[in-house]
Amino acid sequence: MSMEDLYQEIILDHYRKPKNRAPELADEAVHVHHSNPLCGDEMDLRIRVVDDRLDAVVFDGEGCSISQASASAMTQAAVGRELKDALDLAEDFRRMMHGDDPARPDDLGDGIAFTGVAKFPVRVKCALLGWMALRDAIQTFERGASAHTVTHEE
Ligand code: ZN
Repeated sequence: MSMEDLYQEIILDHYRKPKNRAPELADEAVHVHHSNPLCGDEMDLRIRVVDDRLDAVVFDGEGCSISQASASAMTQAAVGRELKDALDLAEDFRRMMHGDDPARPDDLGDGIAFTGVAKFPVRVKCALLGWMALRDAIQTFERGASAHTVTHEE
């Protein structure tokens, strides 16, 4: 099996059996809603924070397989991390989506499977949706707010 096929399998697996997909989260600190009108992807992301760490990260949404699978992989990679560390990891994923080699490939977990998406500019926003929602949720938390809605245009 080629690397590309393996990555495709990982993406499909997250799409069919998403991890940390839930419409609610007990004791949530922040709930953000992000949308990608170019593709029609919608994403709700909720985080629970304990001692400056992501105690839980859940998403819910609808849209293309890339957006939903990427969010699923993101939750697995992010949960348990300190907020600052998770922000750094989100930035690493963002750089990878813009064609750079990731600095933390192991920490990205299944997120690494989306590396090939960088070759398809129209899908990059789909793959980024969950990660950018995570970044926004953490920054919203750090500002002391609890909810936020963002529409990714341009
Ligand atoms: Zn999409």
